[in-house]
Amino acid sequence: MLGKIVIANRGEIALRILRACRELGIKAVAVHSEADRDLMHVRLADEHVCIGPASSKESYLNVPAIISAAEVTDAVAIHPGYGFLSENADFAERVNKSGFIFIGPRPETIRLMGDKVSAIEAMKKAGIPCLPGSDGPLGDDYDENLRIAKRIGFPIIIKAAGGGGGRGMRVVHSEAALHSSITLTRGEAAAAFNNDMIYMEKFLENPRHIEFQLMADSYGNCVHLVERDCSTQRRHQKVIEEAPAPGISEEKRQRMGKRCVQACKELGYLGAGTFEFLYQDGEFYFIEMNTRVQVEHPVTEMITGFDIVKEQLRIAGGEALSIRQENVKITGHAIECRINAEDPTNFMPSPGLIEQFHMPGGPGIRVETHIYNGYRVPPYYDSMIGKLIAHGDTRESAIARMRTALNEMVIGGIKCNIPLLLDIINDKAFQEGSQNIHYLEKKLGTKH
Ligand code: ADP
Repeated sequence: MLGKIVIANRGEIALRILRACRELGIKAVAVHSEADRDLMHVRLADEHVCIGPASSKESYLNVPAIISAAEVTDAVAIHPGYGFLSENADFAERVNKSGFIFIGPRPETIRLMGDKVSAIEAMKKAGIPCLPGSDGPLGDDYDENLRIAKRIGFPIIIKAAGGGGGRGMRVVHSEAALHSSITLTRGEAAAAFNNDMIYMEKFLENPRHIEFQLMADSYGNCVHLVERDCSTQRRHQKVIEEAPAPGISEEKRQRMGKRCVQACKELGYLGAGTFEFLYQDGEFYFIEMNTRVQVEHPVTEMITGFDIVKEQLRIAGGEALSIRQENVKITGHAIECRINAEDPTNFMPSPGLIEQFHMPGGPGIRVETHIYNGYRVPPYYDSMIGKLIAHGDTRESAIARMRTALNEMVIGGIKCNIPLLLDIINDKAFQEGSQNIHYLEKKLGTKH
């Protein structure tokens, strides 16, 4: 088992990792920016090290500072959480070369899956279904690109190979817009991701976003922890997630899950990872793999009773997977709402002092947050300040518990998106469970 680790992240996920360390008897070092001295996990950690000014670039993305923090505290491993450096293969490599364990997959796996073009290629080889696409990066030859688009059939979507966070994508409905869209997306990709490689794939008109959670150890064991539905999105970013996905049969789940396990084994995958799919007309199409723990991991934990973060730590410490596929059982249904410090009508960030905070509770309710009374939400980082998770025997009871909890939760002093979340939870279309990725935007479009 690992003796001491550095948590190279902030906010709720840093606290989540700290709690898992406590349970396993692992010492934890919090690294934080100058703006984050008051973070909950910094107060609770065994040691803490300030790694730079507020700007993420100079702190949470500051590789030498994070590695030095591990050196001076005598830690043995680094947990990157999600976002920041979690999917940065160069960082993982630097961590390993400096003599520490990177809590995640091997750098070469991160590199392969971080480039969406090579990821799709690898998945095709492993027998995972993908969308019709350009089968490689797009060049500058307009006629060739038009030929590819016609072969796929409009509408198509142009995507940045290095894209993430719902950015670097453009839908093209007709030939007329193709050329300018390619030029624009390439320019944006170069500016945002420092990589102008782009590719093309079929744009699906009304898919759901369904993803499979995988977990693999260094002895060749691998399990899938069934799927999540993350179709409730705004600007390609998830707002509400749930598990299992409504309407997916056990037979379909096991068939797809097995294929993901097989692909992981072929990749020599290590740790926690997620295969993301679009699901339309009964078929799954791979879009990307996330090589880290995800924001929405608690819904999987609630229905399987399995602790994903603890298992990440155990696997990084050289232990074998503690669960076998036949022991992965679904109990009930879980829903997660992302709580954001933002105006629920225009989505402008709303940082500031939390003047009042009241946590909801009761059976099946779980709150993952780092905020507390008197905490000041800094303006420098992502606006997500917590997650509310409701578990019930059925989807209906999870929804009922979520509604009660959202009504009980009080966050005063700043604006947050609880009213919007309640609106969705109370929406008949959401309650029916058939929402696709356009559901929320359509609802907002008609409302505002
Ligand atoms: P990111 O890495 O930025 O999260 P993804 O490839 O995971 O990008 O896509 C994010 C979201 O964008 C998907 O959940 C879906 O809503 C939408 N999307 C991506 N590719 C397609 C596609 N081919 N057709 C329709 N929607 C898509």
